[in-house]
Amino acid sequence: MKVKLNDIRDDGLSVELAATTEECAKLLNSTELTLHPPLGGVAEITKTSDGVLILGTLRARVSLQCSRCLVSFDLDIDGSFTLFSPLGAAKRVEGAKDGEDYFEIREESFDLSPLVAEQIALELPIKPLCKDDCKGLCLKCGIDLNKDRCDCHSEPKIDPRLAKLKDFKVKTK
Ligand SMILES: [Zn+2]
Ligand SMILES: [Zn+2]
Repeated sequence: MKVKLNDIRDDGLSVELAATTEECAKLLNSTELTLHPPLGGVAEITKTSDGVLILGTLRARVSLQCSRCLVSFDLDIDGSFTLFSPLGAAKRVEGAKDGEDYFEIREESFDLSPLVAEQIALELPIKPLCKDDCKGLCLKCGIDLNKDRCDCHSEPKIDPRLAKLKDFKVKTK
């Protein structure tokens, strides 16, 4: 997904975001994540007086692992992004403002792939869950509590001495 600055005309340049299975695998350099083709979206690239502006939409399907039960599940990403790269006299800008993320163009061309990968990464939840109410794994026996039950969480046996205390409390009420 290389873009040459010279190809960006006055009325802008529209680039279809697409990636093959192989490119998808390379794009997200992670063993925990799998990006499924097809990747979709469009990047509208325009030159402004001081830089290059990208307005993009992105659709992707990513396989990731539930942070509670460790099951793999698919997450659909449907997002949009705004990126700006200062050019010429403009120096590298620290931090982002007005909802724009900055990126750097060092040559006469730039690659959209790492920018797209970054946007995908930004859309991913910090703690992915296969479903909102995922019960997770039992901390004691490791059983998947979504599919099975275990006895680890049943009423703990009460120490006979504490049992007396329990009685005592009841009586004082
Ligand atoms: Zn889960
Ligand atoms: Zn258990």
